[in-house]
Amino acid sequence: MTNPLQVLVTGATGRTGALVVQKLQQRPAQFTVRGFVRSGQKASDRFGTTVPLYIGDIAQPDTLSPALAGCDALVILTSAIPQMKAPPKPGQRPEFIYPEGGTPEQVDYHGQLNQIAAAKAAGVKHIVLVGSMGGTNEQHPLNRMANGNILIWKRKAEAYLISSGLDYTIIRAGGLQDQPGGQRELIVGKDDTLLAHPPDGIPTSIPRADVADVVVQALLEPAARNKAFDVISKPEGNPGAVVTTDFGALFEQTTPGL
Ligand code: NAP
Repeated sequence: MTNPLQVLVTGATGRTGALVVQKLQQRPAQFTVRGFVRSGQKASDRFGTTVPLYIGDIAQPDTLSPALAGCDALVILTSAIPQMKAPPKPGQRPEFIYPEGGTPEQVDYHGQLNQIAAAKAAGVKHIVLVGSMGGTNEQHPLNRMANGNILIWKRKAEAYLISSGLDYTIIRAGGLQDQPGGQRELIVGKDDTLLAHPPDGIPTSIPRADVADVVVQALLEPAARNKAFDVISKPEGNPGAVVTTDFGALFEQTTPGL
């Protein structure tokens, strides 16, 4: 029997990050999990004392090194979080800002680079990075949000990860939903072709719980190594859909490179 993989999840108090932590905890024979968080209070509200927690900030590399010491794999689930400026007036669109120190350039680019560099220095073998579909389109509305260019910065960080020499799995999710996982057929693609041509016109979305399952399986399945892909799900109960259970076969459909 092999030792469990030691995995650090950053953004562990985030909506997908917390699901990944919980799913890894449910497989103690395969994984030992740690969380990297910036709020100890938020983390203990979520996990109690069940998860070893490292408190820090991805902008501060010296807080990452202790969390990564002895880890086999890193799951990056940190992301810039836009905030609404004020409730919109009737008929107007809401306006967003990023908090000071929390722009996409600072979090989704420099913050991810800090994590990749710290992981490499710590001898981590594999990084799973969750990103977003839409990054091939500079005009994507998410890039205009608070002029943050979030998808552009995410994609630059993905390119850096690929060039790092570490094993990588880059999972670019469609629109995230807070719905149960394990009940849908997952579909993988590349270069936003699923956005341009969604099969049968289905919504280009996926439950966070399914993304978390893809992360867990990517840590286990060799076919996920050195791959980058988009992923969405068919709606639950979609006629002809076959619930995805064979993740190795799913990853076989994905390809290396950005
Ligand atoms: P989320 O809930 O917004 O979580 C983001 C996490 O990043 C939070 O835990 C946050 O910490 C952490 N974080 C931000 N700045 C940090 C810093 N400087 N140091 C340490 N931690 C920091 O994430 P999500 O909605 O589950 O999304 C997961 C990923 O999927 C993101 O990359 C997102 O862009 C991407 N995605 C989202 C959508 C969508 O529809 N929303 C679609 C496709 C892809 P706190 O908990 O302390 O705030």
